[in-house]
Amino acid sequence: MFTKARVKLTAYYLAITMTICLIFSYVIYHGFVTEFRRGLRIQERIHSQIITQVPSDDIDPFGIVNLPPSLNPGLEDQIFSQTQHRVVIDLIIINLSVVLLSGVGGFFLAGKTLKPIEDVLNDHRRFTADASHELRTPLTAIKTEVEVALRDKELTLMEAKKLLKSNLEEVNKMQSLSNYLLDLNRYQNNQIKIKLNEVNWKVIVDKAVEKVTPMAKNRGITLTTRLTDLAVKGNEMALTQLVIILLDNAIKYSPLKGKIALNLRKQGRKAILEVEDHGIGIKSTEIPYIFNRFYRADSSRSKEQVDGYGLGLSIAKSIVELHNGTISVESHFGQGSKFQVSLSLL
Ligand code: ADP
Repeated sequence: MFTKARVKLTAYYLAITMTICLIFSYVIYHGFVTEFRRGLRIQERIHSQIITQVPSDDIDPFGIVNLPPSLNPGLEDQIFSQTQHRVVIDLIIINLSVVLLSGVGGFFLAGKTLKPIEDVLNDHRRFTADASHELRTPLTAIKTEVEVALRDKELTLMEAKKLLKSNLEEVNKMQSLSNYLLDLNRYQNNQIKIKLNEVNWKVIVDKAVEKVTPMAKNRGITLTTRLTDLAVKGNEMALTQLVIILLDNAIKYSPLKGKIALNLRKQGRKAILEVEDHGIGIKSTEIPYIFNRFYRADSSRSKEQVDGYGLGLSIAKSIVELHNGTISVESHFGQGSKFQVSLSLL
């Protein structure tokens, strides 16, 4: 599809260049002919004046006037047609070179122009395929369970309740996926403007900690915080979600009864937030990809109990970018990870 568009765009570039070239060629050719004829007319006038004043020495014994070659009218015509021919050939060569150069250049430029569009489209296709795949898994599970249950003529109430419970789990998964997708759209869509106000970063982090505390308690995880009061320009809802994503991951990828530390401090003109866990860690080869949409490290996929879609960190990254900040990670496989968010202080 893009090759066709590239060829089409090249043809447009070529058509524009050729039109300009042909106009220039016509103007040059027309100017040359007019100027040459004018020159000839002037020469003819001089020539006729000279003839009336030719001294008798320049007339040979047969009565023929000896004129310099440039004033010979037959020779002028010959020179005119030769020069005209040369100008036409030169213009054809120039035009052909321009066609060739603008064809090659146009093809190259068309490729460069279309590349970002092609990348966005490919990214969009990949995203749609990944999202559909993630939605299909719970849907298939629900469909299979319901079909099997319907075929079972002796289905008991207990079994029906178990089935409904399992279906509800799958529906919850789909709901959480659709929420993730909506969040991604909200933070990655340039058309939607997120309002940024002066906010207290510490208060936001505290709120996020409060929200994940039950989940941490469930796994016997201790959360320790060292937070400084710092004002940043941000969106309260988005920043709360950012901290929840980082804490949620820290809890998910930590062993039972693990320890997580949260640290918010001032460093120069920056507010630095660190979320440190002693969980499974991330392989150095996987670190460059964890902020990509739908990316899940092998170690987290293999652990069946760790739910996720690989969307949390890409949402986190989009939120940080909306705040003109940076997010980075330091991790040692099997030992733990430390995520760091840096935002400008007000
Ligand atoms: P997920 O829903 O899979 O957690 P994320 O986008 O939040 O998706 O994270 C992407 C991947 O990065 C995870 O699948 C996991 O492999 C890795 N990861 C993120 N946070 C941590 C962490 N604190 N410890 C270990 N691995 C992590």
